[in-house]
Amino acid sequence: LSERLQSALQKLRGKGKVNEADVKAVMREVRLALLEADVNFKVVKEFVSRVSERAVGQEVLKSLTPGQQVIKVVNEELTQLMGGSQAKLALNSKPSVIMMVGLQGAGKTTTSGKLALHLQKQNKRPLLVAGDVYRPAAIRQLEVLGESIEIPVFSLGDKEDPVKIAEQGVAKAKEEGHDVVIVDTAGRLHVDEAMMDELKKIRERVKPDEVLLVVDAMTGQDAVNVAENFNKEMSLTGVVLTKLDGDTRGGAALSVKSVTQCPVKFAGMGEKVDALEPFHPERMASRILGMGDVLTLIEKAQANVDQEKARELERKMRSQQFTFDDFLTQLEQVKNMGPLDELLGMMPGMGQMKGLKNMQVDEKQLGKVEAIIRSMTRDEKQNPEIINASRRKRLAAGSGTTVQDVNRLIKQFMDMKKMMKQFTSMTKGKKKKGMGR
Ligand code: GDP
Ligand code: MG
Repeated sequence: LSERLQSALQKLRGKGKVNEADVKAVMREVRLALLEADVNFKVVKEFVSRVSERAVGQEVLKSLTPGQQVIKVVNEELTQLMGGSQAKLALNSKPSVIMMVGLQGAGKTTTSGKLALHLQKQNKRPLLVAGDVYRPAAIRQLEVLGESIEIPVFSLGDKEDPVKIAEQGVAKAKEEGHDVVIVDTAGRLHVDEAMMDELKKIRERVKPDEVLLVVDAMTGQDAVNVAENFNKEMSLTGVVLTKLDGDTRGGAALSVKSVTQCPVKFAGMGEKVDALEPFHPERMASRILGMGDVLTLIEKAQANVDQEKARELERKMRSQQFTFDDFLTQLEQVKNMGPLDELLGMMPGMGQMKGLKNMQVDEKQLGKVEAIIRSMTRDEKQNPEIINASRRKRLAAGSGTTVQDVNRLIKQFMDMKKMMKQFTSMTKGKKKKGMGR
């Protein structure tokens, strides 16, 4: 979707003058792009007519940068389509109860664990409740997940009634002072009456603050239909879109809210337990338009980069005392942030770069760099100038790399230092705010 939309809008970008016919032509392509992305056709129709109306409006066509303005309108309307602003969890009771529902394989159990971890990071004390007694090993799956993130899991085995399990789970949470209970439930392959009846019973008994529907974004239009059905029966409080990492079309993300009126609250971005993000419509819209998701990137960086170290690093860069020790620290922080290609994809402009998706950032290369730096003596790390030919040979042998590897690293380091020097002299006197903030 991104690519098609971007190429359609690209035609407007640098244009000095835009007339109605231009807008019409571009909107035809936007419409096709959305339909191809499996966005609900009613949603597409309304979207296109809203954007067209605004785009041919006086203030846009008469502005100095009409191309940019149209893109801005598309961005705003995409954001509106997905709910406008971030929809947060409403956890009011004590303990608050979150009930997870959805079809088999949608990602309920995985998301229960992710959500528990997410809430724990916000200083909550979650309890997970294993309410899927039908799928073999479902309970064990949740228990293993719970162990890995050190969050307790309540279960009564697979012979008990799920309604009773949910009730006792909540009672136990109360007893033990947990403030959030996440109830994992069973799914079927299709929505059916028996399933809904059981879920309704659980809902009646535990009176959840949130009923979250978990749907697989990769199923596109089906995900939206499932959401519509569940919402009719259960009146959901929110949707979690999983597997958004594998969803290249984005149809479900764009349609769910406007079809069901139910906001997407979280997005699953991978199989790992920390791959859950609060869903931000405006950021998703920017991502789709290839404008990058700078805010998510910054949040990621802030969560993973030690703020003290970042400030220190910045100070050193400015005073040009940057050494290989600092280089190593920086390397470690970057590694903590996750796969480099994922980070690059969030940067403005990078999304359009062909082949980025398939680019494998070479983790081995990073490992080599680390090994070489670790083989350096203290002196060498502080004063790289002293690393002569014989030292280079020693470093290569000590780190299990080649002299070429060592040469390359030292050259990169020197280049970086040079760049910093230029940068500092450029910004000197301007008193810029630091990146560590
Ligand atoms: P449940 O039947 O609804 O409980 O689904 P599970 O939690 O067992 O998940 C089914 C499969 O989907 C598992 O293999 C998960 O690892 C995978 N999965 C869940 N969420 C995501 C996600 O956000 N991204 C990706 N790539 N895989 C996911
Ligand atoms: Mg499950």
